[in-house]
Amino acid sequence: MSTSILYHAYGIKGVQYKSAQYEKSSIIYSAEMVYQKIHCPKCSTKNSHFKGQKKRRFRMTPVGRKKCFLDVILHRLKCVDCGHQWWPRLPFMKGKSQMTRAFVQYAFDLLSMSTVQNVSRLLGVSWNVVKRIHKMKLKKLYKKIDVKDVKYISLDEFAIKKGHVYMSAFTDIESGRIIHAVEGRTVDDITPFLLRLKKEAKNLKAIAMDMSRPYITAITETLPDIDIVFDHFHVTALMNKALDEVRKEQQENLNEMGRKVLKGQRFLLLRNYKDLEPEFKDRVDAILQVNEPLFKAHVLKEQFSLFWEQNSLKEAWIFIDQWISDANETGISKLKKMAKTLDNHRIGLLNYFKHRISNAAAEGINNKIKTMKRQAY
Ligand SMILES: [Zn+2]
Repeated sequence: MSTSILYHAYGIKGVQYKSAQYEKSSIIYSAEMVYQKIHCPKCSTKNSHFKGQKKRRFRMTPVGRKKCFLDVILHRLKCVDCGHQWWPRLPFMKGKSQMTRAFVQYAFDLLSMSTVQNVSRLLGVSWNVVKRIHKMKLKKLYKKIDVKDVKYISLDEFAIKKGHVYMSAFTDIESGRIIHAVEGRTVDDITPFLLRLKKEAKNLKAIAMDMSRPYITAITETLPDIDIVFDHFHVTALMNKALDEVRKEQQENLNEMGRKVLKGQRFLLLRNYKDLEPEFKDRVDAILQVNEPLFKAHVLKEQFSLFWEQNSLKEAWIFIDQWISDANETGISKLKKMAKTLDNHRIGLLNYFKHRISNAAAEGINNKIKTMKRQAY
């Protein structure tokens, strides 16, 4: 063993190797800090000497299944010129951590391949320690992401812990990269990142998102010049929900047999009619023929899918007006409610024709989120 192995194998620098002790499941190296001329933090001269010492133990990267430790004698320095005393920080130390930089890096690398629990088992350190490293890693990842070139962002919420905890994720639509994620979905939760965007994201033009009230409030307050674009995917989901509510209402009025039939056709009704195979089209037709409210709701849902295909903002404006008046004319409360929602969110819907962004990358993002969730557990 030698000082150079400590350096080349474990990334330990600034110490002199003394001895090694081999135990059943671990190896303990002993070393001592070497004297180096470093600037005094107070007066910046390089005139210092050792004054006092202490022993500290650091966790190093393992060798196979053997845990490795470094017991190192550290020396306090005293400045000859100004009398200042300090404990110098050696290159392998990471803040006040008892782990070496190389160990933390190794845990980082393992975390990109496995869960917190597995990494903790493999390294023989507690779950909490690995969890802390994981948090550091996420923080570092998100901190580093430069937002100055980001033009379009998609903001999504997703549930973790079986829907008890919500997170908000910001994704760069062009690169598909998650640039920030934060626990919670309230104004207070997302405003800190919006403030950073305000300061740094000089090229940001629009944010795609669902019609969540807190998101709208937070963005309007903090980024008043940025366009909100209601996401294609979310609006379609809302429209399907309205149709499904009409179906449920209609079901109530039927006998048990009719109820069963209608419930069974739920997914057919929600699918795009034009994409259905002929036999399914026949089935949908048969249901709609005997139920007028459902027929009207279905027509309006189908019609609305054409909204996204309008050629200009002006056409889209006329289209939405027509849809709202058609929906109101049906007299069906769920459709009238949907019409009101669209009317209230008109600008954000029409902004689609200004930027033509949506959450097309949603699938990829969901996969990333799944990985994050797996690691978080
Ligand atoms: Zn000094």
